[in-house]
Amino acid sequence: MPQTLWLKVHKPETAVLDPGVQTRFAAGTEVGRLAQDLFGPSVDVTVRRADGGLDLAAMLARTKECLSSGVEVICEASFAADGFFCSADILRREKGGFGLYEVKSFSYSPSSPQKDQEKKRDSYVQDIACQKWLLERCGIPVAGANLVCLNADYVREGSLDVQKLFTIIPMDEAIAAEYAAVPERAAEARRVLALRDEPEMALSERCHAYPCAFWQYCTRDLPQPNVFDLYRMDFADKICAWQEGVVSFEDALDRLRLTPVQRMQAECALHGGERIDREGIARFLGGLSYPLYFLDFETMQPAVPLFERTKPYQQIPFQYSLHIAEREGAGLQHREFLGESGTDPRRPLAESLCRDIPQDACVLAYNKDFECRMLKELAGACPDLAEHLMDIRANIRDLLEPFQKGLYYLPAMGSSFSIKSVLPALFPNDKELDYHGLDELVQNGGQAMEIFPRIQGMGAEEARRVREALLAYCRLDTLAMVKVWEKLKQACGMA
Ligand code: SF4
Repeated sequence: MPQTLWLKVHKPETAVLDPGVQTRFAAGTEVGRLAQDLFGPSVDVTVRRADGGLDLAAMLARTKECLSSGVEVICEASFAADGFFCSADILRREKGGFGLYEVKSFSYSPSSPQKDQEKKRDSYVQDIACQKWLLERCGIPVAGANLVCLNADYVREGSLDVQKLFTIIPMDEAIAAEYAAVPERAAEARRVLALRDEPEMALSERCHAYPCAFWQYCTRDLPQPNVFDLYRMDFADKICAWQEGVVSFEDALDRLRLTPVQRMQAECALHGGERIDREGIARFLGGLSYPLYFLDFETMQPAVPLFERTKPYQQIPFQYSLHIAEREGAGLQHREFLGESGTDPRRPLAESLCRDIPQDACVLAYNKDFECRMLKELAGACPDLAEHLMDIRANIRDLLEPFQKGLYYLPAMGSSFSIKSVLPALFPNDKELDYHGLDELVQNGGQAMEIFPRIQGMGAEEARRVREALLAYCRLDTLAMVKVWEKLKQACGMA
């Protein structure tokens, strides 16, 4: 979008990077490096300046040399024309010209692509069409344009098989219409970039496709809260509503058909007050029985499968925390497990969990779908423990339920009922429950996911600090659940 380009060039400081971007970037770099081995020997023309930035002029010169000396496969082949620059991830000599291969780290199932995978694939159409156009402007005949991504169906067996890890999607047909429109788009981009004043930004579904780093900037003038804060509404529906002039919560109440929870959220935000359905909460609590096990997993999700019988982006639990309330009024017990970085943690974690949680126990998770999915996958990986693991799974109750059903709502919860939103709303100013009081290395699940696989490369002191930070973080997650449960009991006079 030329408007996005304008912000990138003229107001880069307004971008707010999603905390997951760095992780995705690291995954993308690793995937890109592996993909360079797909077609045999290659030459990577990347050149960096002393400050770490790319030396574009040197990359253009190296590309030229490779082309004239007949190199078969060039990685990061760079071209510039008409004020535009691009680097093709892989350029390969093929019959009739060159094959263009754009490498992306998303996973795609060639046998049965899911809707979100197809959407992801289609989101690269414009990018690939522009590259093809620029290469041809530079006199490079493109024999075929392709997208290279991770094969979602690949299961690692033994050492990594790069040929099976990737899938190549021919994109010639998909980009045809976009390719024809590139000259017009290029002219429009040039026009917008030359503007001194900021062009008008039109919010659209594209804003969430990446997601866009300029979202906060582009929505800075909207009333707070606004239609984009509504609980559990598709982003596409929010965009539709916004395009029809539904912006504030007043508008939403007047003109949208809201779910009961969305309506309650909007009314509480506008008129203040809280909603506590004591009977509903008591019914939920009445379904629980001592001893209670409060369980939380931490997982990693490597783009490239690290362990036997795992797929790209498979979530692998490496840690859990467990608080146990034996009976009414008894003190809490705590158990935990943290795997060894660099080894497959699933088997030792499953064994430890089966020791810590007996069968038929009442287990509480917050957003149980996640824990249930992990338990099912663990059962698949450890068939001899499957019965016990599936029993734990069958007995999990969801502490999110009272909030998701609108039985307990405070305006401070906003539009999210994640534990990170509910906790500070229920316990403002409680230092013991403040995630910001933890070691800055691990204050959220994304950081835990990113840092655990890296422990194996750290020195002893650093590794010790990270492990302690991970344990403290996960412990706080289950302590938070205990506190939330106690608050629910108080709310309906059971404590
Ligand atoms: S948030 Fe949306 S409108 Fe703003 S720059 Fe990004 S894509 Fe464009």
